[in-house]
Formats: sequence, structure tokens, C-alpha cells
Amino acid sequence: MARAIRSGRKPPAARADPPAAGLRLWAPWRYPYLRAAGRSSSGCIFCVGELTSPERRKRLVLHTGHYAMVMLNAYPYNNGHVMVAPRRHLASPELLSRDERNELNELVTRSIELLRKALHPEGFNVGANLGRIAGAGFADHLHWHVVPRWAGDNNFMPVLASTRVLSQHLLDSYRRLHPQFKAIKAGLALPAGIFRTSR
Ligand SMILES: [Zn+2]
Repeated sequence: MARAIRSGRKPPAARADPPAAGLRLWAPWRYPYLRAAGRSSSGCIFCVGELTSPERRKRLVLHTGHYAMVMLNAYPYNNGHVMVAPRRHLASPELLSRDERNELNELVTRSIELLRKALHPEGFNVGANLGRIAGAGFADHLHWHVVPRWAGDNNFMPVLASTRVLSQHLLDSYRRLHPQFKAIKAGLALPAGIFRTSR
């Protein structure tokens, strides 16, 4: 930049490339999915109710607690991308009760802990998109993203990934992570009996 200014040349234009997996939890390949989600009348992916084991696997649910749950993202930004959501259909944190906030915070922390053990990431992106304008695919039901990160993962992440490859990968991720998340019901630092058991 300094050389361009001294020589009188215009500085190079800013890169137009989207930050595929940066701090903004956004990826262009998800647009068709997000549009479909916005039109869907088939219900909310986070409002799961009581699930059988096959339903739990099909919906990639890793843990259901009394106030909050954890599920793998079916359209992940990276390996082991999970979402932590309240059981109630609420759009924003200020609508949560104190118990819900406590359990959500605990599940985000436990998810980081368990993903660190299972997948050995070098870092995480953790955050929530509030409102469709902020990038939320399911804006009506609050959820936190927990995205493991590895050095260089931007190189192969979502833009070029195909749905078929991701589907196979997701089941592998589920089989690997589900046993890890069973530990939550035994070790969560909340009053006894607050959680329903995970199947
Ligand atoms: Zn919902």
C-alpha cells in the first residue's frame, strides 16, 4: 500500500472473496438451503419434542436436556459443527429464563470441551446470528453455533463441498460424537434431575 501511494498509483481494490469460514458465520453455498428453510411450513428443526433413537440419529441430535439441546448442523461450516438451542421456540436471548440461559451456557461450554477431546481442533468460532439480516437460517429459534477450526481449513471448506459428501461425513461425525455427548447427562454441573436423559 505504501509503495502504491508513493508511486501515485491507485491502491489495489479490496478482495471480493467472501470470508467463507471467518468470524462471519456465513457461506454462499447455503443460500438455497436458507431460502427453502424460510419458505418451509414443515416446522422448526430445533423444536424436536421427544425423539426415538432412530429419529435422534436422523435429525443429528446429540443431546436433549431439560431447557436446551445440542445437534449437529446438517449443512456444516466445518467438521463437528454443532448448534446449541433452547427447547422453547424463542428468537432472542433476552426472552430466555435464567434456567434456560444457564443450561445453554453450560451446553456451549460442554460442547467445546467434548469437541476438543473428540476432534482436537486448534480453535473455535462460537456465536449466534440474531435475525435473518444477520445471517440466521432459522431466525425464529435462537441457536448458538460452535464451529471447530483447524489451521488451513478455509482451503477446503464449504464453497466447493457437495451435499453428498457432507451427508456421508455427517453420519461419521454423529457416530463419533454421540457417545461423547452421552457424558453430559452424568457430568453437567446443574442441580440433580434437571436433565432428561439422552438416549
Ligand atoms: Zn423452534
